[in-house]
Amino acid sequence: MSTRTIRPMVINARTIRCTHRAVIKPVRPDGSGCAECLAVGDEWAHLRMCLTCGAVRCCDASPNQHASKHARSTSHPIIRSMEPGEDWIWCYVDEVYIEPA
Ligand SMILES: [Zn+2]
Ligand SMILES: [Zn+2]
Ligand SMILES: [Zn+2]
Repeated sequence: MSTRTIRPMVINARTIRCTHRAVIKPVRPDGSGCAECLAVGDEWAHLRMCLTCGAVRCCDASPNQHASKHARSTSHPIIRSMEPGEDWIWCYVDEVYIEPA
């Protein structure tokens, strides 16, 4: 068994000031791994999915940090975890966790 991932603290949505919820679309993941890592044969630690376009990219603990690069290059600020059992959402601009709707 893998070790349990510690769930990050989720801040109540009423107490945060994320104004980017409008970018969240009903997207489907664009793959089962980080497309950019797969393209160059690299590995990743954890997967995140962009909630604006469905791009699955690797987390900041991964060598390539494609999720945050995607957020910066596309101005798609909201991602969610793709890890089993994790449903938190993160805004890169406000740097807050958002309670799933
Ligand atoms: Zn935000
Ligand atoms: Zn990657
Ligand atoms: Zn995106």
